[in-house]
Formats: sequence, structure tokens, C-alpha cells
Amino acid sequence: MIRFDNVTKVYGNDVLALERVSMEIGQGEFVFLVGASGSGKSTVVRLILKEIEPSAGTVYVNGRRLSAIPRRQIPRHRRSIGCVFQDFKLLPNKTAAENVAYAMEVTGQRRRAIRTKVPQILELVGLANKMDKYPDQLSGGEQQRVSIARAFVSQPPILIADEPTGNLDPETSVGIMQLLHRINRIGTTVLVATHDKEMVDVMRKRVIALEDGRIVRDRVKGAYLDEV
Ligand code: ADP
Ligand code: ADP
Repeated sequence: MIRFDNVTKVYGNDVLALERVSMEIGQGEFVFLVGASGSGKSTVVRLILKEIEPSAGTVYVNGRRLSAIPRRQIPRHRRSIGCVFQDFKLLPNKTAAENVAYAMEVTGQRRRAIRTKVPQILELVGLANKMDKYPDQLSGGEQQRVSIARAFVSQPPILIADEPTGNLDPETSVGIMQLLHRINRIGTTVLVATHDKEMVDVMRKRVIALEDGRIVRDRVKGAYLDEV
């Protein structure tokens, strides 16, 4: 599903962001990618999205070598990956339902599909009664639920969340993680980049740890700081 084969990324002439990273994330897995700020988590995410190219090594997503995907197919590649961000990135002048609907419209989905799908997905994330609220009328946790609904509405095989709980209090964060877990159980591969230690520890999921651009741990049911 996602495979890194000896991937090195150097920004500019001398910023070594990733060094010979090899990892494999199978279909349906739930994986935390942890590490301090600057350890290379965002670089991994941006490589998977093909926003940047590796300096050496190969990245495979959904069975395809990303370097073999022509430019015109990049949008389709990105649509196969739902993305959730720390700062939600909702459109402020659209309601929760409109934010989700808009994501379907821009990918050319039919009006009728949108009309049935949007309420279903907002129900799934626990926001059936807040569909017509604008982002500034919603709490941080509710806004993150809208952004997860938006990322998941077309049921991409992969969902990537970059610090999804970074702006949320611990209790709200637990709810968001449970939601990501539920989406994972439906069959979606979920990759969560985070330095939210408590969250990683309670979830007991696979943890891949980065330090200075290198994988230093990969545990099946890990904690943030497992003894080596
Ligand atoms: P994280 O997401 O874990 O904070 P990043 O992948 O953003 O780590 O960064 C890894 C390293 O690469 C850091 O040293 C960072 O400063 C550097 N870096 C990231 N993006 C760029 C860029 N566009 N240009 C130069 N250096 C970058
Ligand atoms: P994150 O919080 O995910 O680590 P950052 O705040 O480090 O992200 O980086 C935000 C943006 O700035 C990213 O697009 C990243 O690639 C870029 N960036 C990070 N570090 C550097 C750097 N040293 N030089 C240039 N761009 C950078």
C-alpha cells in the first residue's frame, strides 16, 4: 500500500531530511509516525502525496512507483489519499455540509451522490445535528470531525493525518483518534504523523519512530518511547 525503499531526501544542497528510509505499510494498517519536530514526518507525508520527489530511493503507493506517475495523473493519485491537517483547513464561508459537498463537487461527483453521501458521512463522524453550522460556530474537535468527513467522503484507500490533534485538548483528541480508528476498521489504511505522546501510548498501534531523518524504531503495538 505504502512502501519506501531506501528513500533519502535532501532539501537544497545540504539539509538531509530523510536518510535511507525503508518501510512498508500494508493495506488496512493503522500506523503512527512519530518523532520530534524536524525529524522528517512531514517530508514522508509530502513524498507520499508526490508533492516532492526523493533525492534517492523509491516510493510506492497503491502498488505504483510514484516516479512513474506522469504529471497529469498526479491529481488522481492525490485523490486516492484523504488528508487531515492540524489546522483543519475548512472553508470559513461554507457550512459543515457545504465543506464536505464541495470536496465531492471538485472531484466531479454527481449531485445525487453528493446529496445522499454528505449526511451519511457527517452522521458517521457524529455531526448529524451540526451540518448547517459554519466553522466558527463549531469547536476545534467538531471542525476536525468535519475535515475528517471531507477527507473520507470519497472513501480513499489511504487516509493521512498530519498532527490531527495538535490544536485540540486531550479529551477531544481521544474522540478524534477513536474516529480515525473507526475509519481504519472500515478498511482504510491510516497513517497519523504526530508527536502527541499520550495518544500514541493509549492506542497501542504500530509506531514508526523517526529521529533526524532515520527510522529508529518500528513496533507492532508500540508506545511513543519504547525501550529499545
Ligand atoms: P517534521 O515534520 O518531523 O517536523 P520535516 O519533514 O518538516 O520534519 O523536516 C525535516 C527536516 O527538513 C528539518 O530539518 C526541516 O527544517 C527540513 N526541511 C523541511 N522542509 C524543508 C524545505 N522545504 N527546505 C529546506 N529544509 C526543509
Ligand atoms: P511541520 O510543523 O509539519 O514540521 P514546519 O513548520 O516545519 O512543518 O514547516 C512548514 C513548511 O515550511 C513546510 O512546507 C516545510 O517543508 C517548510 N520548511 C520547514 N523547514 C524548512 C526550512 N529549513 N527551510 C525551508 N522550508 C522549510
